[in-house]
Amino acid sequence: MTETIADRCAAQGLRMTEQRRTIAGVLEESSDHPDVEELHARAVALDPNISIATVYRTVKLFEENGIIDRLDFGDGRARYEDAEREHHDHLIDLSTGEVIEFVDPEIEKLQERIAEKLGYRLKGHRMELYGLPLKKR
Ligand SMILES: [Zn+2]
Repeated sequence: MTETIADRCAAQGLRMTEQRRTIAGVLEESSDHPDVEELHARAVALDPNISIATVYRTVKLFEENGIIDRLDFGDGRARYEDAEREHHDHLIDLSTGEVIEFVDPEIEKLQERIAEKLGYRLKGHRMELYGLPLKKR
């Protein structure tokens, strides 16, 4: 990743207020998949004046501009991650809610082959696996 979220917002001509900049920074620093409440908690630690409504509006704006991705892990809460992160898929542990990131070259290739068979060149995909641990941890 070369450009920061704030850089990409600027490149898209988004007006960057101080609060938007703070939220962009929080997203940038997040290596997990925070929902709006988690993002708000992290942003408030940096600027106590940021409201949850501002976080909602800002992530919506970033999402609409393709700067962050909205993820759905099946629990009805939208989660977000930087759209420029290296491609990966997610496995969600249904007992803990933990999200494990993985990349499997075979799956990547298989999906390309499926798309090709259907007459398409694959431009992207999203996959979420849901599972329970085989062994107690
Ligand atoms: Zn992820």
